[in-house]
Amino acid sequence: MMNEQEQMVKIRNARCICGKIAPSTDNLAFFKDRGPGSDYSRYICEKCGYNMSAHRRNLDKNSLICTSFTPLESGHDYDSYYCGCRGWD
Ligand SMILES: [Zn+2]
Ligand SMILES: [Zn+2]
Repeated sequence: MMNEQEQMVKIRNARCICGKIAPSTDNLAFFKDRGPGSDYSRYICEKCGYNMSAHRRNLDKNSLICTSFTPLESGHDYDSYYCGCRGWD
């Protein structure tokens, strides 16, 4: 019975800027949840990848930012963390 419930929880991985991947846990340094329902999924645009406030400031000078903000509801494939690859200073 316990096993059935555990399988319902989708296991996620976190990725560092260097590409290193680790299972998502709050114990990772600078861990940020980017899954569905996270802050990331609510404030990042599905179409252009920029955040909500960047869209408000956008005056058609930056073509990388789209005209209508659409939240990335499905979230990102990976959460993010920092593995220490560039030092800790
Ligand atoms: Zn956008
Ligand atoms: Zn790293």
